[in-house]
Amino acid sequence: MTEKRFKVFSFDIEELNDELTEKDAETKRYPDNNCPQCGWETTLLYAAEETEDAAHELIRQGKAGLCGDCFSSRLTELEVVVIIPLETPK
Ligand SMILES: [Zn+2]
Repeated sequence: MTEKRFKVFSFDIEELNDELTEKDAETKRYPDNNCPQCGWETTLLYAAEETEDAAHELIRQGKAGLCGDCFSSRLTELEVVVIIPLETPK
């Protein structure tokens, strides 16, 4: 099995909308602050990648970004193993 290490990042959907609207007035990906999968209104979209910049870029491209419920369901479907560091980074 191929494995990939990643971190989960959350993005404020209103900030994403402001950013997307500034770049292209015709494009606003989340017009009613809705999750692109289930359509429920949400404040945060989640994406998993190696870095926050990479996760942000995927959301900008419309290739990632789900509400907490859809994101959790996806992690469950993928049987993701969560590794939590026991020591707090200094
Ligand atoms: Zn959703």
